[in-house]
Amino acid sequence: MNQLLLLGGTTEGPALAALLDARRLPVVASLAGVTRHPAPYPVPVRTGGFGGIPGLIEWLNEHRPPAVIDATHPFASQMQANAAAACAATVIPRVRVLRPPWPERPRWRHVANLTVAAQALPPGARVLLTTGHDAAVFRDRTDCRFLLRTIEPAGPQPPHIAALLDRPPFTIAGETALMRDHEITHLVTKNSGGSGTAKLRAAEALGVEILVVDRPTPPPGPVVHTLDDALVWLDAALRVGN
Ligand code: NAP
Repeated sequence: MNQLLLLGGTTEGPALAALLDARRLPVVASLAGVTRHPAPYPVPVRTGGFGGIPGLIEWLNEHRPPAVIDATHPFASQMQANAAAACAATVIPRVRVLRPPWPERPRWRHVANLTVAAQALPPGARVLLTTGHDAAVFRDRTDCRFLLRTIEPAGPQPPHIAALLDRPPFTIAGETALMRDHEITHLVTKNSGGSGTAKLRAAEALGVEILVVDRPTPPPGPVVHTLDDALVWLDAALRVGN
């Protein structure tokens, strides 16, 4: 059997790889290559973009994986769209693995994207940004102060955007201290789901306003929310393929 293609870059990636490996299913994991110290995978890893939809089609035609498991981050909108289009073009079964979003909480303000979040902030806001290294849309908001927390260095920022390098796990006590020390009034976060909820709890307790960026809609096709369901889908896909 050819190797399955597992699109990773999330906590689900190595976990799924381990489950597939334990079942003796051949698999190659794919990483974008944006993280300097990615989590280790117990299977072979290829790194770097495929070159858009045409590049991925070429890769799929060359390697003919029996299935593609897209376990990229819920906000990896380009990769999920590319995977859907390229798998459709090559008639390779694909599943989207999406961890459940965080459930709705009282007083959340929903925003469709970071641009809307930037527009929604009131003048004078002191904002904790936990939305990734791309803070370009906040550059014009010189009337606010930002603390941009990232795992990888975010590059040079203007004076009103202070950078903070840190990596999970975070605790409620730590998040509370951070928000207090920086007199944070607003938290901007993506609805990534998963275990990183300490910032939400801390913000709620402190009365910090929470702006939640809603997830992009996944492309049409099967979606599963747990690793177990991914394996169930895969069993069915491999049965059909045989
Ligand atoms: P994106 O905007 O959807 O993808 C941008 C480009 O990066 C894709 O078009 C593709 O390049 C390449 N790429 C993305 N994931 C890849 C993978 N697993 N293997 C090979 N190439 C990949 O993605 P992103 O938001 O920049 O995220 C990049 C990676 O970081 C993803 O793997 C994602 O799982 C992870 N991540 C993202 C977030 C987030 O908030 N977005 C958070 C945590 C982790 P080509 O078009 O050249 O193929």
